[in-house]
Amino acid sequence: MPQAPAYRRVVLKASGEALMGKQGFGIDVSVVDRMAADIAEARALGVEVGVVIGGGNIFRGVAVASKGGDRVTGDHMGMLATVINSLALRTSLVKIGVESVVLSAIAMPELCESFSQRQATHYMNEGKVVIFAGGTGNPFFTTDSAAALRAAEIGADALFKGTLVDGVYSADPRRDAAAVRYERISHERVLREGLAIMDTAAIALARENHIPIIVFSIHEKGGFGSILRGEGHCTIVADEPAAAQQAETARG
Ligand code: UDP
Repeated sequence: MPQAPAYRRVVLKASGEALMGKQGFGIDVSVVDRMAADIAEARALGVEVGVVIGGGNIFRGVAVASKGGDRVTGDHMGMLATVINSLALRTSLVKIGVESVVLSAIAMPELCESFSQRQATHYMNEGKVVIFAGGTGNPFFTTDSAAALRAAEIGADALFKGTLVDGVYSADPRRDAAAVRYERISHERVLREGLAIMDTAAIALARENHIPIIVFSIHEKGGFGSILRGEGHCTIVADEPAAAQQAETARG
């Protein structure tokens, strides 16, 4: 008998860059279609899926600030970019018959519904894929933080962080051949060693709410589904079992 997935409700975070494929800018529809197929596979396993997409393939607030412009306006532009990406993903999901809804942290009723925790939970209970657009709705934050925040709000069992590599390494494996991949690591250690998998605020929020972060390669077709089935390569960032914590404390 196939194994039941280990998680009932998850949030998937993909960077905007994951959507641009080899283009270097914007949206490669074939990549978004593939991501939608991966999400459909997760739904077919019975897993409730929320999605947060970044906007880095279109715009980042720091790009304005670095040229002497106003950071807050730049961040507003970045948040709008996440809405564009979210609408693209919804389009791809609808094409393959997956019911989905975009909820934006910034009200734009002509385009999509506004986010509320109650509405998001309602849609997830109905089995719809909920795409959280507009980040947190606040400047000076990132979509990583938005993903951790939404995961906490909707009571997700795990936050799936899709990256370019298949887990957390001691150094960048594309640059350092000696880099070691972790199977499991604590939020605490990720923060302490400054391992760049998500921003600090996102990891701290996940730690405080005991939400495991599953780091996996978003570029591997079917990777999301295979990890949900307990297969595939990933690193689990999670609370350490009490014994391991004690040993770590003893080591100082
Ligand atoms: N952003 C923001 N507040 C948020 C989320 C995002 O101001 O809560 C802006 C910020 O300018 C950021 C841009 O939106 O640079 C795109 O988000 P992010 O950099 O997280 O996208 P990713 O790197 O994941 O593609």
